[in-house]
Amino acid sequence: MSEHLMNTYARQPVTFAKGEGAWLWDTEGKRYLDALAGIAVNGLGHAHPALVAAISEQAGRLIHVSNAYGIAEQARLADKLCEISGMDKVFVCNSGCEANEAAIKLARLYGHNKGVENPAIIVMERAFHGRTLATLSATGNRKAQAGFEPLVSGFIRVPFDDLDAVRQVAASNPNVVAILLEPIQGEGGINMPQDSKAYFQGLRDICDEHGWLLMLDEVQSGIARTGTWFAFQHTDVMPDVMSLAKGLGSGVPIGACLARGAAAEVFTYGKHGSTFGGNPLASAAGLATLNIIEQEGLLAHSEKLGNWLRDAFAEQLKDVTGVVTVRNAGLMLGIELDRPCGELVGQALQAGLLINVTADKVVRLLPPLIMSEQEAEQLVAILTPLIKRFLA
Ligand SMILES: *Cc1c(COP(=O)(O)O)cnc(C)c1O
Repeated sequence: MSEHLMNTYARQPVTFAKGEGAWLWDTEGKRYLDALAGIAVNGLGHAHPALVAAISEQAGRLIHVSNAYGIAEQARLADKLCEISGMDKVFVCNSGCEANEAAIKLARLYGHNKGVENPAIIVMERAFHGRTLATLSATGNRKAQAGFEPLVSGFIRVPFDDLDAVRQVAASNPNVVAILLEPIQGEGGINMPQDSKAYFQGLRDICDEHGWLLMLDEVQSGIARTGTWFAFQHTDVMPDVMSLAKGLGSGVPIGACLARGAAAEVFTYGKHGSTFGGNPLASAAGLATLNIIEQEGLLAHSEKLGNWLRDAFAEQLKDVTGVVTVRNAGLMLGIELDRPCGELVGQALQAGLLINVTADKVVRLLPPLIMSEQEAEQLVAILTPLIKRFLA
């Protein structure tokens, strides 16, 4: 590893040279099963032929122009995103934090437009929204924020899955203009509301009553990860704003902020922009990703395989002391242990498996959407003994 890279990551001692489907090979030729998918990015696995063809074709024709001109691929991507989400308009950017920055700016402008001079956004404990100053300020992790004060003001934090806490803020703070939250908290530990339908209906009702925007960060939970295109589609409510990134470009950097109704009209000329956002190459990657997911039936597969994995782990680990729960929404899975278990990442790597641990105690699995049943069996066969040995 070069000494010229800044020390921002605790990297595992491995470098990958190539990938195919759910498999990676390191520079020594050792093979690994990928149950992390670049943190929910490589939904189509590695080197998917149809994706490679779409990107190669686009690269050979046109990689970048500028948003000062029409971009046909970006327009087609926006149409497709609105078709599958029910949203009205899209702003295309390059990453998850940028998609959330757009959402935060949109909410503030929405507030100012209706005369709120100091607009505030409700955010959640244990949330993760990114590493830029505004998204770090919205993030509910003191460790990640430490040293970067002064943080951006205008965020009010409440516990996740607690409607009363939101109602209390509503009763006392006239400056609130929006709620921003992940439908399922990814970095925070694969945390889901006890009753998603009731919780999101409750949030929707509060937002409607007070004229707030309901803004969902689906950067990790979106793009078929949970068995539907977007996690909110497991509920009966629509958001006003939604941010996407990770799985959208299959590894080509892209993010998007989608809006609906009045929220879709907030950004006008000059209010926001991006040099790279939605360039022909990234847009073609996004469009190809969505089309391939559809053609290969990966929504249903994600749900089915995710539930199979949850049941398999729950069964294998049912009498193991130290396992708290196994939970999932599609292929977003968490195995919560009763103690910090970061060491499992290195042990799994040794055993030829890529996993992740988040919130100290939660083994997080985000397998590619194209993982086969046989590969899922291998995943269970490799990981279960490691967890048992770790807890023994
Ligand atoms: C990863 C993530 C982000 C940040 O995305 P970047 O592309 O790293 O900026 C934001 N929100 C959620 C929910 C994420 O999982």
